Amino acid sequence: MVTATRAEHAVQLEALQFEVFPTLADQERFKAAHYLKHLELFPEGQFVGLDGARVVAATSTIRRPFDPGHFPHTFEDIIQGGWMTSHDPAGEWLYGADIGVHPGYRGRGLAMALYAARQELVWALGLRGQLAAGMMSGFGAVKDRMRAEEYFEGLRAGRINDPTLSMQLRAGFEIRALLPDYLHDPVCDNYSVLIVLDAARDVPGAIRPAPAHQKGDQMGFIKLKTEVPGPRSRELLARRSAAVASGLGKATDVVIDRAEGALVHDVDGNTFIDLVGGIGMLAVGHSPPAVVHAIEEQARKFIHVCALVATYEPYVRLSELLNEVTPGSFPKKTLLANSGAESVENAVKLARRYTGRPAIICFEGGYHGRTLLTLSLTSKYNLFKKGFGPFAPEIVRLPAPNLYRTPPGMTEQQYLDWSVQQLELAFTAQVDPSAVAAFVIEPVQGEAGFIPIPERFLRRIRELCDQHGIVMIADEVQCGFGRTGKLFAVEHTGIVPDLVVTAKSLGAGMPISAVTGRAEIMDSAHLGGIGGTYGGNPLACVAAIEAVEAIRRPAFLAHASRLGDVMREVMHGWQARHPLVGDVRGLGPMMLAEFVRDRVTKEPAPDETLAIIKRTVQGGVLAMRAGLFSNCIRLLPPLVITEEQLREGLEVLGGAIAAQ
Ligand code: PMP
Repeated sequence: MVTATRAEHAVQLEALQFEVFPTLADQERFKAAHYLKHLELFPEGQFVGLDGARVVAATSTIRRPFDPGHFPHTFEDIIQGGWMTSHDPAGEWLYGADIGVHPGYRGRGLAMALYAARQELVWALGLRGQLAAGMMSGFGAVKDRMRAEEYFEGLRAGRINDPTLSMQLRAGFEIRALLPDYLHDPVCDNYSVLIVLDAARDVPGAIRPAPAHQKGDQMGFIKLKTEVPGPRSRELLARRSAAVASGLGKATDVVIDRAEGALVHDVDGNTFIDLVGGIGMLAVGHSPPAVVHAIEEQARKFIHVCALVATYEPYVRLSELLNEVTPGSFPKKTLLANSGAESVENAVKLARRYTGRPAIICFEGGYHGRTLLTLSLTSKYNLFKKGFGPFAPEIVRLPAPNLYRTPPGMTEQQYLDWSVQQLELAFTAQVDPSAVAAFVIEPVQGEAGFIPIPERFLRRIRELCDQHGIVMIADEVQCGFGRTGKLFAVEHTGIVPDLVVTAKSLGAGMPISAVTGRAEIMDSAHLGGIGGTYGGNPLACVAAIEAVEAIRRPAFLAHASRLGDVMREVMHGWQARHPLVGDVRGLGPMMLAEFVRDRVTKEPAPDETLAIIKRTVQGGVLAMRAGLFSNCIRLLPPLVITEEQLREGLEVLGGAIAAQ
C-alpha cells in the first residue's frame, strides 16, 4: 500500500536508499535526517509503500519553478548546498527527487502506484506536471560499446530497454534531454535523463478530479437545454410510476443517461453537478477510468463464483486491505456482503455469537438499513418504519446528543453531561450490561442530519464496552471512506471500535459492504454460520480495491478536506444572510444545512426544504434531504469534484435558498 510518509519511517528510508542505490556515491544518498527535512518542508509530497510496518518503496518530491525547455542541471543543483533547500512552495512543477522499490518487492506495481500518487498530487495542487532525472541505469554495463547519446536515442526510439527508464516511460513520462554528470554512480556512468510527465496525462491507477476542459462557456459546468424534467425524462418517469413499486422514493426527477466525475447528463441532454453522489457512494466519482478498467478486466476473467464455493484473490486482497486501513493495530479479519444493512446485521450476529448475549444498544436518529433487524435499529418512525412492525426484540434506543437542539435552559456542556448520564442510567433502567452484546453507533449520524457525535460521548461508550465486555460497532457506511476528510470518521477522535461496518463509497458504486474488526470476534461464528451467495462479488471487489487505494492517498484526503473548507465558507455565508438557515454543520466535507422557520424555537421547515431542493434541481444541481425532521439539505458530492464545480453547485443551491 502507498501512503503518506511519517517521521517514524525515516530510519527505514535511509536503509531502503542503500538497497535501491547500492553503488551511488554516499554523499548523494538521502539519509534519515534528509527525509525528516522533506517532511517538514513538503509533507504532501512524501510517499511510502508499506508491507505492514515495513517500508518497501518510497518517493520524495519537492516543488520547483522549472523551465522544461531549459533543462541542464545536476542533482547538486537540486540539493543546492543543503538537502531539499531548493523546495519552493509556489513552484509549478513536482520534482521527483528520489524513487525506489526494494529489490524483493519489484514487479508488483509499487513504482507505478508511487507515480500515480505523485500525479494525483499534481492534480490536487494544480501543478504543471512531474519532472525527474531518471538514471540511465542500464548504460554503465554497455558504455564501452556505445556512446551515451546512442543509448539515449535508442531509449527515445524504444529500441533500448532500460531497467529504470522503461518503467518511467510506461508511467507516461516523456524523455526530454540527456543529463551528463548528473550524479555519481557507475551503473549509469553518471548519466541521467530529464523526464517530464505533463499534468494532462493519466498515470495508470491515478484517479483525477473531473477534467477542467469540461468547463465550457460562461454557464460553467451546468448545461440546461430543456426544463427539468424534459420530455424524454417525463416519458421514463411515467414508465417508472407504472412499473415500479411506488414506495421506492426518489430525491429528484432526473433521468440519467451517463455520468463522469461529478457531472451527470440526463436523457434530454442536460448536464448537472452532482452534490448527492448516489447518497455518498461515489467518493471516487462517477465511473473513474481505473475502476471501469478493473471491472472490465475482471468481467473478462469471471463474473461470479461465490466465496462459499471457491476462493479468488480479489476477495482476499480487499479483506487484507480493509484489515490494514481500518482503525486499530490488533489482528483483524473481514467479511464481505452486499449492502450496508447486510453488514450491520452481520456485525450484530457476530457480536451476539462472540458475547453470547442478546441485547443491542442503538441511538435516536440512527439509520442502519431497512432489513428487519436494521430497521429495528433505525429511528425516524414515520418515514422508515410505519406499518412494517413488529420489529426485532432486545433493542434499547438511547438519546444521542445533537448539540444544535440543546434543550432550552441548558448549556451544551450540561446537555452533553446529561446525554452521557443516560448511557450509564440505561444499565439500571433498561438492560443489565451482562445482557448487552453491542453498541451500534454512527460516529457521524447520516440520515439524522450529519450530526457528529461528540468525542466525549463516543469515549464513554468505549469505556463502558471495555468495562462490561461489550462490542463497540461503528457504522461508517455513510461517514467512512474519506467522507469526513479522513479515511474513517472515528479517526477524528482516536477512538477505536471493535468492529467497523463499511459500504457505500467502499465499492465506487458497486454493491459491496464489509464488517472488519477484531479477529477473535470475526472468527466467533461456527463454520458455515455466515456468508451469502453474492457477498464479495469479484467485480465489486476489484472496484473496491481501486476505490480504497485511491481514497486512502493523502492527496485525495487533502482535496476532500479542502472541499469541506469551501463548503463551510459558502454555507456560513448563507446562514449569515438567510434566517431560514438555522444551522450549518458537519465534519470535513460531510456538510449540511438545517432549515428552520424560527431560529429561537427551531421549528423545522420541511416543506421549504423540499421547495429549495426542487428549485436547485431545476437549476442543474442534484441535491437531497436529510434530518430526523426532513428539514436539512446534505452535501455528499463525489470527492473528486473540483473546487470550481463545487462552487458552481453551491451557487445554484444558495440561489434557491435566497429565492425561498
Ligand atoms: N448505515 C448507514 C449509516 C447508512 O447511511 C445506510 C444507508 N443510508 C445504511 C447503514 C444502509 O445501507 P444500505 O442502504 O446499503 O443497506
